[in-house]
Amino acid sequence: MNDAGVRKAAFDWLANEARWRDDVLPREVLAQGFRYGGQRVPLVGPQGIFKPRLLDLPLSITTIPNGPYDDGFSEDGRLSYRYRGNDPRHGDNIGLRTAMHQRIPLIYFHRLVPGKYLAAWPVFIVDDDPSRHTFTVEVDDAHLANWSGESQGAVISDGVAQARRSYITTTVRQRIHQRAFRERVLRAYREQCAFCRLRYEELLDAAHIIPDGEPDGEPVVTNGLALCKLHHAAFDRHFLAIRPDYVIEVRRDILLEEDGPMLLHGLKGMHETRITVPRPTRDHPNREFLERRYEQFRALEISMRG
Ligand SMILES: [Zn+2]
Repeated sequence: MNDAGVRKAAFDWLANEARWRDDVLPREVLAQGFRYGGQRVPLVGPQGIFKPRLLDLPLSITTIPNGPYDDGFSEDGRLSYRYRGNDPRHGDNIGLRTAMHQRIPLIYFHRLVPGKYLAAWPVFIVDDDPSRHTFTVEVDDAHLANWSGESQGAVISDGVAQARRSYITTTVRQRIHQRAFRERVLRAYREQCAFCRLRYEELLDAAHIIPDGEPDGEPVVTNGLALCKLHHAAFDRHFLAIRPDYVIEVRRDILLEEDGPMLLHGLKGMHETRITVPRPTRDHPNREFLERRYEQFRALEISMRG
């Protein structure tokens, strides 16, 4: 079997799917896979290490994280991947070890929320630790990676390539966190804008209440709001704010403005309305965080009045 040909076709197919699905891949699409030489090639299976019938070695590995912070990534830009079970000689573990020795590129899937995955490829198994029952994985650049199997030693010892893989792996981790935050927030808000209830997922964002990068700016649902593009930008730029009692206040100068229907209905119409919150109380926006934002809004409003 043309192993390299199947992998190349899998990467091309994934690139296309990820592009038009904005990186978030439904499980059923991956389980269905694509066709190669008349045969169906699924990309995932019931186990974390997956080998389609068409290949002798695994094609993909999948992580289902236990929580937002237990993602398997380390600070030095590597990813730990647990053996299947505790037997280092289980067929799946041998498959990954062989892929490591032959420098076979694999696909990495990370579950964002149940049923939705983010993919990274090519990934390489770069280390094997039988005492911890763990492989070490790195993501590489599809255009720069040398996976021909030739000059292996040179590739592995190359410090530049090592730094590149570490950087790309860290980038993938950030992308996973961003996308997982978005999926969790949108799901909690039942895919609708908390302000205007717009339901087009393509027009929705997961907004942070305390911005990403600030203390408390964590990617958790209670620090998030599902907002349409207009309301996300308006919220970020303090055109309006949410009081800790979940009621929207539009900035005074905007309330006094006269303009077309978007201003009238889209912004001014939000004044004194209550936001839509998720059903479970534990997912409701953090009132203390809202209060901090609201104080910034009030300070700006007062300064604008001079
Ligand atoms: Zn909206």
